[in-house]
Amino acid sequence: MEVSFYYWLFGAIAFALGAAIGSFLNVGIYRLPRDISIKQPRRSFCPNCKAQIPWRQNIPLLSWLLLRGRCANCGARIAFRYFGVELLTALLFVAAWRFFPWQVAIAYWVFISILLIATFVDLEHFIIPDEITIGGAIAGVVASFLVPELMNADSRVAALIRSVLAAALGYVILWIVLEAGKIAFGKKRVKLDAPSPFKWTRQGDDADFVVGEERSLWSDYFARETDRLLLHCDEAKIDNRDFAAALLEFHYNRVRVGADEFMLDTVDHISGIARELEIPREAMGRGDLKFLAAIGAFLGWRGVLFSIFAGSVFGSIVGLATLVIGKRVWSAKLPFGPYLALGALVWMFFGEKFVHWYLQLVNPV
Ligand SMILES: [Zn+2]
Repeated sequence: MEVSFYYWLFGAIAFALGAAIGSFLNVGIYRLPRDISIKQPRRSFCPNCKAQIPWRQNIPLLSWLLLRGRCANCGARIAFRYFGVELLTALLFVAAWRFFPWQVAIAYWVFISILLIATFVDLEHFIIPDEITIGGAIAGVVASFLVPELMNADSRVAALIRSVLAAALGYVILWIVLEAGKIAFGKKRVKLDAPSPFKWTRQGDDADFVVGEERSLWSDYFARETDRLLLHCDEAKIDNRDFAAALLEFHYNRVRVGADEFMLDTVDHISGIARELEIPREAMGRGDLKFLAAIGAFLGWRGVLFSIFAGSVFGSIVGLATLVIGKRVWSAKLPFGPYLALGALVWMFFGEKFVHWYLQLVNPV
């Protein structure tokens, strides 16, 4: 009777705390990639009308439901993501509380927060800021020192060393994958049979890009802010400017020719004769390396290996599914960070069971 009461009481507290932290994560997800301080302005504001949100319209979960996902001031839609992140955080906090001893659960609350903020920033912006990845790795090492159970260690120093080594393993192993990937299919160089005419025509926020017979959508070439497309031209014309024997270096929003730079939203036409097209693409962003280091610092070396393995499997499944549905563009643009986060979550809750099952499979008694 009494056990049941405390069971539900602490469950409810974990849920409420998770929802409140989720509300704070939403602030970070919006502000971190935009370089807006977490502390200033103190109050949340509507992304549309910038009006401050009074506390009674800022109650986790409830406000979004009561206001039916709209700003009370201007009526603009507030994305479902705000509600979703709060609910997800609350549920994961309760799950961690139920699964683990309380010290471990509190450390995992911190880790869950890091996973969620990284996932949603990466989905939207294709980056994971250093505050989350490097900050997360440091938090993981500190947490392992305070709660040695995280590393299955019986002394704090041993836990600290294991955590640091696992973080390093995460970084290095993904670095190797990244470099290998670059050799395998990173640098895509298309030599054209003969010098071919190309044409770039702006269509609203996007553009048509035609090289020879190939027609494509401009945004298909750019998955990340750092992606580039190099066009080696015999001649080129950007609106009314002419260039001879030029290298056009495109980013998703601008093009550079020698010392000149043009913002693409002010350019209407680019055309010319191209010899070669080059896409020096990185299979993953550098942020993923540091993110996996943070995962290692919290979960240890087995968690690192599992997260890469599971993340790749999840990524392939989604990639194949979208290929079948015929939405290839979307799958090409999905970042790797959220898959790593999902792998880390699965390991956190089911890792021990998985190892047990696997050992029985390879070595039946
Ligand atoms: Zn508003």
